[in-house]
Amino acid sequence: RCFCKLSGEVDDCSCKVETLDSLNNNQIYPRLKSLLARNYFRYFKVNLKKQCPFWSDDSRCALKDCHVDICQKDEVPIKTEKQPDNESNNQHEKNKYTMESNKGEQGGGDCTEERQLSALDTTISDEKKAEFQSWREHDESLPMFCEVDDEHSNDLEYVDLLLNPERYTGYKGLSPRRIWRSIYEENCFKPEKSVGYGPEPITEADNYDSATSSSAMCLEKRVFYRLISGLHTSINIHLCDQYLFPAKNGFGPGTWGHNLKEFQRRFDPEKTDDHGPQRLKNLYFTYLVELRALSKAVPYLEEEVFYTGDAQEDADLKEGVKDFLAIVKNFPDHFDESQLFKVNSQEMLQLKSEFVHHFRNISRIMDCVGCDKCKLWGKLQVLGMGTALKVLFSGDSMAGDSTVNASLKSDFQLTRTEIVALFNAFGRLSSSIHALETFRALAR
Ligand code: FAD
Repeated sequence: RCFCKLSGEVDDCSCKVETLDSLNNNQIYPRLKSLLARNYFRYFKVNLKKQCPFWSDDSRCALKDCHVDICQKDEVPIKTEKQPDNESNNQHEKNKYTMESNKGEQGGGDCTEERQLSALDTTISDEKKAEFQSWREHDESLPMFCEVDDEHSNDLEYVDLLLNPERYTGYKGLSPRRIWRSIYEENCFKPEKSVGYGPEPITEADNYDSATSSSAMCLEKRVFYRLISGLHTSINIHLCDQYLFPAKNGFGPGTWGHNLKEFQRRFDPEKTDDHGPQRLKNLYFTYLVELRALSKAVPYLEEEVFYTGDAQEDADLKEGVKDFLAIVKNFPDHFDESQLFKVNSQEMLQLKSEFVHHFRNISRIMDCVGCDKCKLWGKLQVLGMGTALKVLFSGDSMAGDSTVNASLKSDFQLTRTEIVALFNAFGRLSSSIHALETFRALAR
């Protein structure tokens, strides 16, 4: 039995790891794999040139495997903007116009209301403008978990995710350590000292693993830490799963394969510290949270057009998404976000605002990652997680309604980039859980 064969309930959830293994490996993973290869999901718009807002001395990494192939404009086989059609009643089609014209979307720099609206001047009536304005105001009232790349920046480029897979890049040492340290130490919540953590401040990420028991941290803080730790686990599983072994004679390109030793070094309690299995379990936690967000967004996503400009492709994709969402929706043991921020108090309001603020900071830290490939996937996965949180903290869930089918408010909006990030981020977690099966087989 491999240490990576976990069992029992996922912390703070009523769902068993074994249930998730079976759901993921048999139903979710194969469907997502084929969905994410479709044009709508494979082209991600991102700004990899944004300045790191926290420190300036991190030189860009020159490792070959950190390189990202950017799509030339004429290489992107999707259209993202549909001309407004007066007869269209579809809410999501209307949203696409705002999505493309809403410069900066949420908090994107020098965007002014006048400029956004003037982009619509030629095609849209005053009545429509007022409608767009009210959507925008609604959007701004939602918590903003991520710093979103400015939609109109010249530095925004399309990346083909299939051609730039998340895998081993050789990015290690001081630069990633600083990123992870800053995430854990400056942006995760600290365990309360009064519960026995001594006078010394917690300074190492390692200490958090044992400190996330319910006696040391409240649920909201534990959730925050586990989400990040689960993401970290997923990234590190991928680099072990698609590892570059150097060529035997020291020359040549090397070969890609699963690296069991590297996996054990990171997660086996006998080879390293005791935290490995807990960190693996956090992966399942993060998976459950994003699964629940998808489930809550089903009514919204069922209305989504998934527009690429190719009618047949769009219809096929919509069918595929519907089939996938049916599985997500019917899963019975979802994470219950209504347990979060339940107490109605000033402290809780403060905590909620810190939760959003810290997460947003982490999205900004992604611009400091020194390896472009890692930055690409880091930005995508943090945006996907931020989108999941946006869904969970919107509308009905904030009113404490935990029913799985509770629909989102009808004026809730997701941009194409958010949808692509949400699905791909969940796809990464799904692929990590699937990879554990491979490592179990190798360890036998
Ligand atoms: P690290 O993984 O750097 O961990 C630092 C410390 O954090 C550890 O010593 C431990 O105390 C703690 N820790 C480790 N895992 C967890 C966890 N799950 N939960 C809580 N604490 C933990 N490398 C690639 O090859 N390919 C990539 O695509 C890639 N993407 C990255 C994306 C980002 C955003 C970052 C910051 C790094 C990325 N890296 C990637 C680098 C990779 O994550 C490691 O940082 C690197 O391999 C060095 O590993 P390490 O053994 O020093 O420990």
